[in-house]
Amino acid sequence: MSMTRFAAIDTIQNRLDQGADYLEPNEKISSYYGSHVFGDDAMKAYLKEDVYLKVKATIQNGQKLDKSLAQDIADAMKVWAMEKGATHYAHWFQPLTGKTAEKHDSFFNLDLGTGKAIEEFPGSALAQQEPDGSSFPGGGLRSTFEARGYTAWDPSSPAFILEVGEGRTLCIPTIFVTYSGQTLDYKLPFLRSISYLEKAALDVVNYFEKDAKRVTTTLGWEQEYFLVDEALFNARPDLVMCGRTLIGKHSVKGQQLDDHYFGSIPERVYMYMRDLEIECHKLGIPVRTRHNEVGPGQYELAPMFEEANVAIDHNQLLMDLMDRIARRHKLRVLLHEKPFDGVNGSGKHNNWSMATDTGTNLLKPGKEPGKNLQFLTFFVNTIKAVSMHAPLLRASVASASNDHRLGANEAPPAIVSVFIGEYLTGVLDAIEAGDTESSADVKRVKDLLKVVPNLEQDNTDRNRTSPFAFTGNKFEIRMVGSTANCAAPMTIMNAIVGKQLVEFKVSVDALVNGGQDEQAAILSVIKQYISESKAIRFEGDNYSQAWADEAAERGLENSPNTPRALDAYVYDSSVELFTSTNIFTNEEIHAHHEVMLENYILKLNIECRTLSEMCMTGVMPAVVDYMNALAENVNSLEKLGINASAQKDILSRISEHLNSMKSNIESMLDASEKADAMHHRDSAIAYCENVKPYMEKIRNNCDSLESMTDDREWPFIKYREMMFVR
Ligand code: ADP
Ligand code: MG
Repeated sequence: MSMTRFAAIDTIQNRLDQGADYLEPNEKISSYYGSHVFGDDAMKAYLKEDVYLKVKATIQNGQKLDKSLAQDIADAMKVWAMEKGATHYAHWFQPLTGKTAEKHDSFFNLDLGTGKAIEEFPGSALAQQEPDGSSFPGGGLRSTFEARGYTAWDPSSPAFILEVGEGRTLCIPTIFVTYSGQTLDYKLPFLRSISYLEKAALDVVNYFEKDAKRVTTTLGWEQEYFLVDEALFNARPDLVMCGRTLIGKHSVKGQQLDDHYFGSIPERVYMYMRDLEIECHKLGIPVRTRHNEVGPGQYELAPMFEEANVAIDHNQLLMDLMDRIARRHKLRVLLHEKPFDGVNGSGKHNNWSMATDTGTNLLKPGKEPGKNLQFLTFFVNTIKAVSMHAPLLRASVASASNDHRLGANEAPPAIVSVFIGEYLTGVLDAIEAGDTESSADVKRVKDLLKVVPNLEQDNTDRNRTSPFAFTGNKFEIRMVGSTANCAAPMTIMNAIVGKQLVEFKVSVDALVNGGQDEQAAILSVIKQYISESKAIRFEGDNYSQAWADEAAERGLENSPNTPRALDAYVYDSSVELFTSTNIFTNEEIHAHHEVMLENYILKLNIECRTLSEMCMTGVMPAVVDYMNALAENVNSLEKLGINASAQKDILSRISEHLNSMKSNIESMLDASEKADAMHHRDSAIAYCENVKPYMEKIRNNCDSLESMTDDREWPFIKYREMMFVR
């Protein structure tokens, strides 16, 4: 009898009556929203007036902060944070492991002169820190004699207070770099991409709005996740080690009935969500919507969109909070893209747009035709950019875990295409077919776009299968995986669109200098881009085989696995893009590529060892016990002259799978050893092509064994138990 499994089920049965606690605040959300953030209100209250004005101006204009202000700001932050109960401060950063990292220091110090205890926060400690970063991935950027990494303050994202248990820490968003300033994280390339795009976009905006002074990129993410009970989670070594189930026969009742989607939220989950929302609101994360998702036990949460830099930090912070708050409720959150085979996976749609300081959303067509040429410009430049660098966008969402989701039955394929809807397709076709020479042409096009804002309300117009869809006033990137750091795809979006806008301006200016009217020149470059980017546009069903075939004919790249998809990071065209935009140096992008490969190798290595252990020390002994019982039974029945053919048949089928499982495990471990002996890309490809197929075979063996073995003996929590026990 499997002790662990049934003990876990008992534990949760008892738990269902209890219900976890959380403190429902008495006040309105607006009264505690942002209370843990050193944002505008706190700065106004705690900074000297002249310092406050300077900081505010710097942040609004997206400029660098004057270093001499660091001490004043540190003093104010310290007072504010200590009033909120903080004892420590930490540089908070986003290394390429995908998680966030913190290095804590105490405000407490001893005064050197008097030996008395004091609290201090030097401006230099706000600005820069030296965490012992030698164990964070760097892809060879740090040689062993200079293994240190440095964190440097990013004033464009506000500091906040993190509560863990009774402890409170002032967290300062930072970038993470080598001694010589090379990037070791997601944030620095992202920040560089932001300044590049914002400048490029502003130059183009100024054709239309002379008084616009700044463009910002906006991001609204949607986070999908699963919840399982802590006891069940702990009884599955694969969930603990890998975040996904490596074995497990599909439940008889899966998601076929669609009865979970938008159904009522179970009470225990509701309490978790409320608790999470309250914490988010204190931290200024503007979460608004929550609902059940398609998979049983799957949920989604989404905030209001924000400036992309802050939105990225908020999503990273959210993933951390989700995990910590789930533990309070004796739940575990699964962020993996595909925790359960045969059940919907989890994504993180990234809604992306650009806005001006004059309040224009650059991807929103207006009812007044005046702004529609501007909309069309940004809309078509984005499509053209994606058509030029689709493989790079694909690479930016590539990971071992997202490989299980992209191309599965419910998620977009690994082929990038752009969906824009029937009406806009008609508009682009009309522009392509028509003339662009006269002001009458320009007016006709502007008028055509008046209808689009009405279409925005029309949800039927949204193709849910598209990896990259225009949804009325923004593009929605649906290929992003639920575990991803949004900075990766956002960096690529900013880079490719920024570069495209720069080229666009060069072409338009050349026509204008040649004597053409500005608006007609803009329209004629747009017309050219529409023809050149046609192959990337697709309005049909992205899930179908027909599309995969057609995409191949169109010459679109289809890299279903990470090791090969990552190649796009180091294509010549990509290196040219990164170096010419100052987003990565040649050395940095190669190092980044290497780290992504290392992450992949590491994940697969852990998975294959976990799988082997579960099979050899869990499944095998349970199955052998059951076989012994069957064999004994056959013996005694045959002594009595009774037919035992059913038992014998099961016994021989079990034995076949057991033998096959054992030999597949040996082959898998052998292949993984060989892969480990290779280097980066070769090693990753070997894991993908030589190791992974055995993992699937072993899973099949194992799932067949599960279907034939005595339920009382089966050692691991079954799918039906994980997903339907609330
Ligand atoms: P739905 O898809 O449910 O109809 P919305 O279209 O309002 O909802 O928004 C979906 C997501 O897109 C939300 O997370 C929202 O914050 C985000 N979003 C809306 N407008 C923008 C924008 N201009 N830039 C970036 N994200 C946006
Ligand atoms: Mg969505």
